[in-house]
Amino acid sequence: MTLLVAIFSVLFGLAFGSFLNVCISRLPKGQSIIRPGSRCPSCSQPIRARDNLPILSWILLGGRCRNCGWSISLRYPLVELATAALFLLAYLTFGLTVEGAGMAVLCFLLLGLAVMDADSLLLPNAFTLPGIALGIVYSGLRGGWRGAMLAALYALIAALLIVIIRGVYWLIRRQEGMGLGDAKLLAMIAAWLGPVQAMLVLYLGVIAAAALGVLWMVLNKRARVRTLKTPFGAFLCAAAIYTLFLGRPIIQWYSHFFRH
Ligand SMILES: [Zn+2]
Repeated sequence: MTLLVAIFSVLFGLAFGSFLNVCISRLPKGQSIIRPGSRCPSCSQPIRARDNLPILSWILLGGRCRNCGWSISLRYPLVELATAALFLLAYLTFGLTVEGAGMAVLCFLLLGLAVMDADSLLLPNAFTLPGIALGIVYSGLRGGWRGAMLAALYALIAALLIVIIRGVYWLIRRQEGMGLGDAKLLAMIAAWLGPVQAMLVLYLGVIAAAALGVLWMVLNKRARVRTLKTPFGAFLCAAAIYTLFLGRPIIQWYSHFFRH
């Protein structure tokens, strides 16, 4: 049973990863994810079903379009592989439960947003807004009406927190740090994971982004950090994936200081 479900979660992950690639390449450009069907971004030739199998087709085609020879980014098979790995991990960690299915959905959203932000510095509303709604539904499934209402409240507070940080940053530096996309992203994370884990995500995300910023300055001594456009949302997504799988021990360790 366990092995069968594990195999199915990998297959589901590959299929959803394939769909996620369509979202990643189209949503930041404002294109529809439904029509037209999959086609080569270079020659617009529709991709046949047998050339559209996750990972396998990319390997068999040698990473090139069958029609025009355009080199297909390694990002495509990597996103499919990552989605399959996260779906399997969600099943192995949380089992065949509402939480397991929910965390697989959240991983799908976070992975897509991370790649889109790293690629185009955009966190499309088409992912964050349904993501907030799904987080409220998920919390409702686990905690009833009270759970759903609290999730909505946490989302609102998380968004306000980012808006306030953004405002303070603007007053000091007269430039934009975090965007409104980051506010909606943290709202989504709070709706799914609650306030304690959302705060851990913000904390880890800021530290990771700052560490990379310092590293970048050391490597490029002449450049100023302000010329670096940081995909802060991608750091938040990575921190959220880390936290949803491994955050509990950190939070337990931290909270034991206050238990006297
Ligand atoms: Zn082509």
